[in-house]
Amino acid sequence: MTNGTKYFIGNWKMFGIPSSFKIITQINRFINKDKRRYKVIIAPPLSLLQDFTKKLRNKRVMISAQNCYQKDNFGAYTGNVSPFMIKKLGVRYIIIGHSENRASGETNKIIEEKVKIALKNNFTVILCIGENKIEKRKKQTINVLKKQLNSVLKKKLSQKKLIIAYEPIWSIGTGKLPNKRDLINTTIKIRATLSKIFNKNIPPVLYGGSVDSETIYSFKDIGIIDGFLIGGASKSSKNFIDIIKNFYK
Ligand code: PEP
Repeated sequence: MTNGTKYFIGNWKMFGIPSSFKIITQINRFINKDKRRYKVIIAPPLSLLQDFTKKLRNKRVMISAQNCYQKDNFGAYTGNVSPFMIKKLGVRYIIIGHSENRASGETNKIIEEKVKIALKNNFTVILCIGENKIEKRKKQTINVLKKQLNSVLKKKLSQKKLIIAYEPIWSIGTGKLPNKRDLINTTIKIRATLSKIFNKNIPPVLYGGSVDSETIYSFKDIGIIDGFLIGGASKSSKNFIDIIKNFYK
């Protein structure tokens, strides 16, 4: 059981234009009136980071990038953006290792580089890990997750600047949820792996995959989960607010 702050993180993926800021305005209005202890972070696409970050200065909703390139500062890497450049927009969080990026060629080695450079630039990294359907069927889930964690995280990194998001790939956008016992067991194993790296103080461990205002009920009593990474349902202020409301109902 963890008693720390819960996280509700929205990943908009390739969605959003400048006027989509109204979604965040509504979320911010709701959480401003709510005295409970949780953090809300929204990850809009790169094209909106600067505008949204400026508008949210001193507001409770925080902004995250969805990815970055694995090189620092500037360089001849057409179409890419470094953690240094994103930091200069005022962004403090960054998602790294999302399965959609892993699927387009990001290896653990590349992810390790990204995490290293993002931490060097003082970001808090939301590191995504997760097994696919075949790995699950072959009962390789724990091995896959351990490898994803051990190849990227090192003792010398600051656990205070890390958030781990366990996202089974087969659950993302499918409406399929892990059963409660499996999710608890997997989270315990993730936490044990993190304890071996960081000793007592481990980063928060979130769950992601088909979380919406209805499915959130099934996670209410799993105290070991420190929050949620929410894809599809984060694009609507009503759905996102209802997730928070129903979690605490
Ligand atoms: C995600 O893409 O990180 C995610 C969790 O998606 P969804 O909530 O739509 O399953």
